[in-house]
Amino acid sequence: MTHSEEFYNRAKTIFPGGVSSPVRAFGAVGGVPPFIRSAKGCLLTDVDGNEYIDYVLSYGPHILGHGDPDVLDRLHAAIDRGISFGAPSEEELQLGEIIVSALPSVDRLRFVNSGTEATMSAIRLARGVTGRSKILKFEGAYHGHADSLLVKAGSGGATFGVPSSAGVPPEIARETLTLPYNDTEALKTLFSSEGDKIACAIIEPVSGNMGVVLPDDEFLRELRRLTEKYGALLIADEIMTGFRQTYGGAQILFSMEPDITTLGKIIGGGLPVGAYGASAKIMSQISPEGPVYQAGTLSGNSASMAAGLATIQKLKTPALYSQLEEQGRKLSQGLKEIISRLSLPATVNRMGSMMTVFFTPDPVTDWTSAARSDTALFRVFFHESLKQGVYLPPSQFEAFFLSTRHDDEVIRISIEKMSRALIACRNWIDQGRPEYNP
Ligand SMILES: *Cc1c(COP(=O)(O)O)cnc(C)c1O
Repeated sequence: MTHSEEFYNRAKTIFPGGVSSPVRAFGAVGGVPPFIRSAKGCLLTDVDGNEYIDYVLSYGPHILGHGDPDVLDRLHAAIDRGISFGAPSEEELQLGEIIVSALPSVDRLRFVNSGTEATMSAIRLARGVTGRSKILKFEGAYHGHADSLLVKAGSGGATFGVPSSAGVPPEIARETLTLPYNDTEALKTLFSSEGDKIACAIIEPVSGNMGVVLPDDEFLRELRRLTEKYGALLIADEIMTGFRQTYGGAQILFSMEPDITTLGKIIGGGLPVGAYGASAKIMSQISPEGPVYQAGTLSGNSASMAAGLATIQKLKTPALYSQLEEQGRKLSQGLKEIISRLSLPATVNRMGSMMTVFFTPDPVTDWTSAARSDTALFRVFFHESLKQGVYLPPSQFEAFFLSTRHDDEVIRISIEKMSRALIACRNWIDQGRPEYNP
């Protein structure tokens, strides 16, 4: 038995699924998740000494790779002075100032401890400001696990939501309207009937949580126009895309001008964090200035703030984003060539350093087209990549992330290793899809 197997067996007895967050249990792909002992740059090492090139990067935060020396220095220095004070600190102020200067739509912000807290609070703020209760989200999006957001579309053309998790009251789910991503016509229809009841629409500018799906320009424009026309607020959930696609957020690339922005992941440099920000006027509605209550014992703690500050300061070099784009392009190009040579039914979606290989031959533009993917084939690809030493997200519907430590050599080796995994996929299909045991 490997050490990972032994740990996993023990973990399953004390944690649901053996994990602290569901996707880590490898439920969609089967097999035993490697327990990770250490991480450096773009490499993970598990408790059995296996090394993996990491394309998960803790689901996005480690854009500089693991253990960046400047982040570690700053973090050590902060920790030496104390970990959390339950009082304002200079790091918090500096990180706040730097985020405000990076995002034209954000004049003021509030730090929280996770992305979930950020979106939950942003929605409360939007409801508080507008005095309305309905919210609009898009199918296939993930905005954290608050009750209002664990909602899927009801059956038959109904747009009102039903819970996607046990424990979410149907009365709450009904307040969440759900539409397909990139469907401009459906937006127009919904706003003409419900527009004046909608407090806010929340959207990932580039969707990363159904795998990577790019927004249609016209769709984003129409969403901004309609929310404004009907007095609903637009929330850009940039928890994944913030500081990932460009310095600031994807909203800058798409000229999106949201009313509220949520952040997380990269702005904490790998430590727990979230934030929501907006115009000075909207943010003045938050307590203690305004009537919308929101608080947090560890919010703005100096450790998270220091790691975030060191990360964001390093990202201010524009060359880093062109480097990430270039490495992302090389990886997707390499994979596309092999996919086409092997005539595999797969489509690669990418924006900058976020990408997904969908095992479907057709374009993926929304949840319906993403869900057509052959998840059994993905499972083979995932495990064969893992065997080769490439650590991909263990679900068809998650994004691969690159860091600035994924250099030419790493990309070249990754393509080589993943090409062997793709050949295994071809063989598996040609053999009539036999039962696959990782
Ligand atoms: C990760 C993520 C969240 C949730 O953040 P947590 O810190 O996991 O609570 C919300 N929205 C988006 C777009 C995300 O990618």
